Amino acid sequence: MTTCAPTDTPDDFDIDALREKYAQERAKRLRPEGSKQYVELTDEFAGYYENDPYTPVQPRNPIHEDIDVAVLGGGFGGLLSAAHLKKAGVDDVRIIELGGDFGGVWYWNRYPGIQCDNESYCYIPLLEELNFMPSKKFADGAEIYEHCRNIGKHFGLYDKAIFSTQVRDLRWDDEIHRWRISTNRDDDIRARFVVLASGPFHRPKLPGIPGIQDFKGHAFHSSRWDYDYTGGDTSGNLHKLADKKVAVIGTGATAIQIVPFLARDAGHLYVFQRTPSTVDERNNAPTDPEWVKSLQPGWQKERQRNFHAWTFEGMAPGQPDLVCDFWTELGRNTAARVMALEDPASLTPEQFMAIREEEDYKLMERLRRRIDALVEDPQTAEALKPYYRFLCKRPLSNDEYLPAFNRPNVTLVDVSDSRGVEKVTENGLVAGGVEYEVDCIIYASGFEITTDISRRYSIDAIEGRDGLSLYDYWRDGYKTLHGMTSRGFPNQFFTGFTQVGISANIAANYELQGEHIAYVIAEALSRGAEVVEPTQDAQDAWCRTVKETAVDNSAFDASCTPGYYNNEGGGGGEGLRSHLGEPYGPGFYAFGDLLAGWREKGDMDGLVLR
Ligand code: NDP
Repeated sequence: MTTCAPTDTPDDFDIDALREKYAQERAKRLRPEGSKQYVELTDEFAGYYENDPYTPVQPRNPIHEDIDVAVLGGGFGGLLSAAHLKKAGVDDVRIIELGGDFGGVWYWNRYPGIQCDNESYCYIPLLEELNFMPSKKFADGAEIYEHCRNIGKHFGLYDKAIFSTQVRDLRWDDEIHRWRISTNRDDDIRARFVVLASGPFHRPKLPGIPGIQDFKGHAFHSSRWDYDYTGGDTSGNLHKLADKKVAVIGTGATAIQIVPFLARDAGHLYVFQRTPSTVDERNNAPTDPEWVKSLQPGWQKERQRNFHAWTFEGMAPGQPDLVCDFWTELGRNTAARVMALEDPASLTPEQFMAIREEEDYKLMERLRRRIDALVEDPQTAEALKPYYRFLCKRPLSNDEYLPAFNRPNVTLVDVSDSRGVEKVTENGLVAGGVEYEVDCIIYASGFEITTDISRRYSIDAIEGRDGLSLYDYWRDGYKTLHGMTSRGFPNQFFTGFTQVGISANIAANYELQGEHIAYVIAEALSRGAEVVEPTQDAQDAWCRTVKETAVDNSAFDASCTPGYYNNEGGGGGEGLRSHLGEPYGPGFYAFGDLLAGWREKGDMDGLVLR
């Protein structure tokens, strides 16, 4: 059995004082506009979304055709749905993708240093099926992108895929019982079934900083890296920046990976930080061939389940912590405390949460003290310290990020007091009343994750029966059966975080959903049905189930520093909204069992087929 010990964390501090400090740090970052503070990528900013720096867009003739299934999106979500459709015997599947190839986030994000932040043995899907083993614990982006392409090849998805194509409108045509898909290439594709698989990280967002359009230098979003401008490639050597002053806006998962490379190569680097991330040791390592030899069939699913238990379920005493890294540390430390009690079984949920909270403070204090040990300038070190609970933001690991601030050519600009960069001018950025002149601004400012779905789906109109707009229909919350179909939107299937059970592995979510969607579509086709749609009763019942079983995280979310995990703290009249949608409370594996039982019955309960 693998042993993975709890970590040493300090306890010589005052939790109440820290709790107060967390609240103050949160309050100073809360913005009344909430997620509306971000610029929508329309009009003059459309290029940040539609421009593809990696694949020249080739002219082609518009496509007019009837097909069985259109899958919108060629990232993990689309690939896994399409793979399951193929496995279920549905062959006429066309993936429509904005990028020039499959890969989704792994196609678009090619910034220097890109790696996955979750252990790749759990994160990268279909490792066993494709007989592929990542080269290290945290694999490079290029390796994951290649794996996505291999999924496409393995399941024959390239034959019908169309790339460099942006879906504009999606309208249900009740005469022909098909979805009419129009695109920026003037296509008119009439699909019997549509699977929406655009994923939560596909649409970049820009901070709504006054004057953002005035900058006369060079600017790009991290997910559209401009190597023509910087030189180099994903492994670095950004030699064209040697005489340039560069600004990075943001210090989230993306920026943490980019900064060490810019620090090394730019003439001067300014990192504009509103909220510091938690940055732990990386401990990346090449994959051990002996470990690979020891693996038994089914190992990946088992590992994903183990990771899920140690993170999402809080802890898994009695089970080894197979992943054993910064993601599972809190669960591990909590479990050690609980198991040391005289009678762990008598612990109430409240007592458990109190222990977990204490361990959370201790873990975060360990991370803050690590910064003091690594960053020489005390003022910079203090500014880099995160004061919020673990999992208020995505936890990160990187060995070069914090030491980068010891370089003379790197300046941390703390913009927390002004709730962000104050202004963009023709020549640079203003913070704390000081103008920083720069040649280039790199926006590592994230993606539309919790904003209104009309912003994040990147489709102008989704209209179901009688012109019903999905954006209107879901304005006050999702209305679905099993999170994957919605009444009034026949033959349309949703992937992602709606009203589903959620796994700690995003790809595991897509696999489960893809399998279920493929089953429904294959059954409909084999039963000769042209239309599949949930009944009102079944949909209402599912919405009730989701509400009744919901785990109430609102107190935790409300205590967290703003970010996409809590819909920017809930300003702008939107309230706190989880980036995970409205999860089914009993969890991912219970959801999987529920769907499997539903399929087993074979009566398509709650769906109307005609
Ligand atoms: P994030 O949304 O996590 O970060 C955006 C950053 O921009 C934050 O630091 C934010 O500050 C900052 N920001 C926004 N507005 C302003 C402003 N007006 N002034 C100054 N700063 C501002 O985006 P990322 O691209 O870093 O990451 C998004 C997600 O993508 C990750 O959480 C992860 O899920 C995924 N990802 C995964 C990776 C992997 O697995 N390898 C790598 C990279 C990303 P504040 O925190 O104050 O809002």
